[in-house]
Amino acid sequence: MDNGPDTPELELRTAALPAGPCERLHAVRHRINQAATQAGRDPASVHLLAVGKTFGADAVRALAACGQGRFGENYLQEALAKQAALAGLSLEWHFIGPVQSNKTRPIAERFAWVHGVDRLKIAERLSAQRPPDLPPLNVCLEVNISGEASKRGVAPDDLPALADAVARLPGLQLRGLMAIPAPSDDFLAQRAAFRRVRELYDALRARGYALDTLSMGMSGDLEAAILEGATLVRVGTALFGERIRKHA
Ligand SMILES: *Cc1c(COP(=O)(O)O)cnc(C)c1O
Repeated sequence: MDNGPDTPELELRTAALPAGPCERLHAVRHRINQAATQAGRDPASVHLLAVGKTFGADAVRALAACGQGRFGENYLQEALAKQAALAGLSLEWHFIGPVQSNKTRPIAERFAWVHGVDRLKIAERLSAQRPPDLPPLNVCLEVNISGEASKRGVAPDDLPALADAVARLPGLQLRGLMAIPAPSDDFLAQRAAFRRVRELYDALRARGYALDTLSMGMSGDLEAAILEGATLVRVGTALFGERIRKHA
């Protein structure tokens, strides 16, 4: 991917982020509020998921102390270590990475949400492994709207059949869709991609599913996502800073 000097991502990284976690959280909430207001939406209808991948438990704890309660993680081992370190806090954990079939059990046992479900086999394992004493695991189906540019996500044509099958599984609650469009520095292109996801979401709702979650938008494109109907934005860099190391 080109990270030329005028991509929004690089701009975001080089522009000084506010120094403290509460200031960064406030700045992101301000962006959410502005975009929601511009869209004529209630800012409270857009949830913020703080994506802490590669950052340690202390960084998550600091953001939690500012009032942030929803956290997203991509890498299972890293997530489990943070959950153990922060067990005293009542945080809501979302698994947002690709789900491998040999890792479904700890995901089913330790998370409230999973955003990356794109195959029935994975959903069936999560369903079977969700402990019965826990509330249903909230599921967003990941849809691939970038075609061959991404290996993740179910193809739009296959989405209705997957939704039909997942909605029937016990222990799971189908909540909506998640997408990661190919990065673009063109605001209109960002909006067009998110609009396609929203249209797929609307089509599923028209099939009768009571979906309420459209998980799309990250640090560099959350405004475009909110203008197209995102109800949950997943934000890492703008909250935690630039990721330097890869995950362990
Ligand atoms: C890393 C990640 C994010 C956050 O990305 P930023 O650009 O740092 O805000 C959101 N969603 C997923 C699935 C991610 O892997």
